[in-house]
Amino acid sequence: MLIVKKFGGTSVGNRDRIFNVAERCIEDYKKGNDVVVVLSAMGKYTDVLIDMAKEINPNPPKREMDMLLTTGEQQSVALMSMAMASLGVPAVALNAFQVAMHTTSAYSTARIKRIDTDRIQTELEQKKIVIITGFQGINKYDDYTTLGRGGSDTTAVAIAAALHADLCEIYTDVDGVYTADPRKVPTARKLDQVTYDEMLELATLGAGVLHNRSVELAKKYGVRMVVRSSLNTSQGTIVREGSKMEKMIVSGVAADTDAARVAVIGLTDEPGVAFKLFNALAKQNINIDMILQSIGRHGKKDISFTCSDEDADLAKQIIEERMEFEDIDIDKHVSKVSIVGAGMQSNAGVAAKMFEALFDANINIRMISTSEIRVTVLINEKNTERAMNAIHDKFNLGSAE
Ligand code: ASP
Ligand code: MG
Repeated sequence: MLIVKKFGGTSVGNRDRIFNVAERCIEDYKKGNDVVVVLSAMGKYTDVLIDMAKEINPNPPKREMDMLLTTGEQQSVALMSMAMASLGVPAVALNAFQVAMHTTSAYSTARIKRIDTDRIQTELEQKKIVIITGFQGINKYDDYTTLGRGGSDTTAVAIAAALHADLCEIYTDVDGVYTADPRKVPTARKLDQVTYDEMLELATLGAGVLHNRSVELAKKYGVRMVVRSSLNTSQGTIVREGSKMEKMIVSGVAADTDAARVAVIGLTDEPGVAFKLFNALAKQNINIDMILQSIGRHGKKDISFTCSDEDADLAKQIIEERMEFEDIDIDKHVSKVSIVGAGMQSNAGVAAKMFEALFDANINIRMISTSEIRVTVLINEKNTERAMNAIHDKFNLGSAE
């Protein structure tokens, strides 16, 4: 078998953990498997590097930032390779240049375009464990790029897809994917499996276990994926294409507190207004999520939307420059709480049940959006955990079947 194993920062956070990971990889290697390892930077080292940069320049050039951040991963792969060597196993550490991991040019938010597999394959043929830097790539200018925070998962899945690996294991510091964040919902339960689509929604909604683009890629290329803990040997959660029978109505509750609501009041009610507004925001790379437009009255209408906390002030500034309206209001103290389940498509009343849970808990809903397998509500941030628990209880997610 060809196995790609990805380990996050906590899993390689110190000497003992590095050896623990080395041993787990060697175990698979000794069984005769080809093993490719993808690593994140040790512990919170990426944050340390960001702080270092900000001390020098609060607004560091993005290219130079990527130049700096890529050192974190280079450090961990080199140390891992040394650990394996000390255990008598041939290993080689490779960075994005040595692999040739081609990405788009966008520093700090690059996307993988193509991975050359020659070098990896040559090293595997020489019976080495190949250890590759996560999170980084190179662009057409031969510069380092990074894939965005948490991007090592995406590196691992992309490599698994490029090599047609039999399995891509994502090792983290939790036992797998839960029905909700166990730190916020004490009754949360580990799921044995989720579909790609469910995982994609959960990852996007801030469940925090996987980088959402890694799931997109896994779905696209049918990569067999498992999320499991590096600290114990429990089975983890399998992410795969769902079979019809097993689709759960609701498989999890997720919350994202990094949301802000922008309300633009008294826009002119005529064609092209929404286009003009959202086009201006898109040009500045501001990601918009929920959108609500009021019914027109006396030639005026209101449009509200959500974006990340960080983008809210810029969004306001752009709208003030480009649009005509009566008033604009920003609220950063909001959060999005969502339920996700592949079985929702074929079951009525799921949204109503969620709203009932919130009503019982006396929590006001400010905006609602849905997809085929998700219902999201925007609420006041201070109610986030209470809402999650109320919904989790209502759907009885804490007990298996
Ligand atoms: N080290 C990077 C980060 O902290 C990438 C990753 O961990 O996946 O965001
Ligand atoms: Mg991560």
